[in-house]
Amino acid sequence: MEPSSKCVHNGAHESECHPINTPIYASTVSRYINAGEQYYPRYFNTVNQDTLAAKISALEAAEKGIVFSSGMAAISTTCLALLRPGDQLIIPFEMYGGSIAFAEEQLRPLGIEITYTKATVDSIKEAISEKSKMIFFESPTNPFLSIIDIQALASLAKKNNIITVIDNTFASPINQRPIELGIDISIHSGTKFLSGHSDLCCGAAVGPERLINKIQHHAHHFGGCLNALDCYLLDRSLKTLAIRVREQNTNAFKLAEILASKEVVNKVYYPGLSSHIGFEVAAAQMSGPGSLFSIEFKKNSISIPNFLQALDLITPGISLGGVETTVCAPALTSHHKLTEKQRLEQGIRPELLRFSIGIEAWEDLANDILKAIKAAKL
Ligand SMILES: *Cc1c(COP(=O)(O)O)cnc(C)c1O
Repeated sequence: MEPSSKCVHNGAHESECHPINTPIYASTVSRYINAGEQYYPRYFNTVNQDTLAAKISALEAAEKGIVFSSGMAAISTTCLALLRPGDQLIIPFEMYGGSIAFAEEQLRPLGIEITYTKATVDSIKEAISEKSKMIFFESPTNPFLSIIDIQALASLAKKNNIITVIDNTFASPINQRPIELGIDISIHSGTKFLSGHSDLCCGAAVGPERLINKIQHHAHHFGGCLNALDCYLLDRSLKTLAIRVREQNTNAFKLAEILASKEVVNKVYYPGLSSHIGFEVAAAQMSGPGSLFSIEFKKNSISIPNFLQALDLITPGISLGGVETTVCAPALTSHHKLTEKQRLEQGIRPELLRFSIGIEAWEDLANDILKAIKAAKL
């Protein structure tokens, strides 16, 4: 089946009254004869959790999945389940700040060796050692939407017996299915595109049954489980995932093209534009370029605070993936903890803005942005 059909139909629950939707089982106690038969939210085995995990697994072409109470619960539980002291974890540094902080503040003190690389297969290859246990990466990345050749990375890792984990949040399973490209585990902050309405905090990990079972076993200890009501909301949201993401792809592409032609814009970072360094790899491994892009205004051409202030339709906000368009200045938000020197080393100038394009009419979004550019011109 195509993803849009899977979004609607997979993970359906069979019961006597043949409901078209999975009922919300708001029960933490179930009758049991043997302890092994017990259904319990923190065992990650309830009907609502299972049907939802089955839908996300189907979307990613994975054997098995597990849903969590946040993206960070998915990331932390996966890492803590699969890494041991003495193991080396390789991370391309263009990575969600919360994941880097988790690696530094939780994994490193446990004796897990962390090596940062550039977001390229060559740079990752150089970091591989006998102790390498896991490569944890994103593609596209934040805020430059850098693209890693996923198939090349997967085969490099397989040769070296290293587990590959991708944070697939930015692409969503509609635009990218890394497991089909050879990646072991795909993780989502469901808070973003999967839920898509800026009202839910959740996460997921999908992959081979052997590894997901191991993660599920450790998840019992960490307890980051999703409750039945939120499972229902995420399931409901997923039914429209494919059409939301398709609309977001179309809108983002239009806006990226328009902005690239503007005098005040120095550069647009969007994997859907042929000017992007990852364009060809993205075209080969993604089924859509996504809703996220960054633009860099020419130096001293625009006042960023005035620009943000002048927007009416678009909301300045850090999160992403919702039906409404948001924008943030990475230097003031996601990367504000770095020193200015560190930011500039990564190419994050104060004039850089990252957009998450929603499902509004692109004409209205374009008008809002162009009006704000006019108002904020220096
Ligand atoms: C938001 C985000 C996370 C963290 O997810 P939470 O649901 O906030 O815990 C992880 N990775 C990426 C790429 C994100 O955007």
